[in-house]
Amino acid sequence: MTYKPFDLTGKVALVTGGNRGIGLGMAEALAQSGADVAIWGTNEERNADAVKKLEAHGVRAYGRKVNVANEQEVVDGMLETVAAMGRIDSIFANAGIGYGAPSFTEMSTEVYRKVLSVNLDGVFWTLREGTRHMVERAKNGDPGGSLVGIASLAAIEGAARNQAYAATKGAVISMIRSTAVEFARHGIRANAILPGWIATDMTSQAQAAPAFAEKVIPRVPIRRWGEPEDFGGMAVYLASDASAYHTGTTLIIDGGYSIF
Ligand code: NDP
Repeated sequence: MTYKPFDLTGKVALVTGGNRGIGLGMAEALAQSGADVAIWGTNEERNADAVKKLEAHGVRAYGRKVNVANEQEVVDGMLETVAAMGRIDSIFANAGIGYGAPSFTEMSTEVYRKVLSVNLDGVFWTLREGTRHMVERAKNGDPGGSLVGIASLAAIEGAARNQAYAATKGAVISMIRSTAVEFARHGIRANAILPGWIATDMTSQAQAAPAFAEKVIPRVPIRRWGEPEDFGGMAVYLASDASAYHTGTTLIIDGGYSIF
């Protein structure tokens, strides 16, 4: 009855790409556990809708239009979010896009740069600016923080026709590990989450493809698509004091797909 480390009351979480999909799944669980939640996305209408959903859980919510592929927008966004919410305790660098090509040999430099700009530059700037805030807080006697990078199974499995995407996700894991080591002294933890096949807008084409339903989903031991809500528990755990000694790891949430 007295074990309460999952209670996030008084903590503030930031979820980039938090207006839909996996990001919103995590944001809602964080809010339901008592955290005040900030979300970033490029679509203001979707941001406003998500803020309403989060406020319905009785917490403070804040949405801001931030294109994470733009350094200045991330720098300003972090300052404004801290100003609006007072602090940030956990950051989920989740915003991402998923462009591939019919073949690696046909993958244009334009697609490559576009994917890198959101999935890698965006995570780099988000984590760097978030870490700055957390370190400053630590130096003022208020240490701690949790950084979470949303990578993908594509980082560790052979993601055919997705070389650019896979490379960004491998890089997220590497960035998280170096950050975990460098900032542990300030009580700041860093972990990566690797989702498997999750039913969101990003995978709408695969969800509609009969071949995918026939060949891929039956290979998921849990026998279904993952849902955004399946990421709520891990988000709450990583944002909470329950994970105080947990850092530098990669956490796979894939219904068992990668071990089958
Ligand atoms: P969705 O397409 O459903 O959502 C993507 C989110 O990212 C939206 O909130 C979108 O908001 C935001 N976003 C996209 N570009 C930018 C940008 N430039 N700046 C700020 N926000 C942006 O994707 P998922 O929920 O499926 O994906 C979330 C994360 O999970 C991604 O990093 C993805 O790579 C990863 N992932 C997903 C898997 C899956 O099967 N779905 C599998 C493995 C990993 P807006 O449109 O308003 O910009």
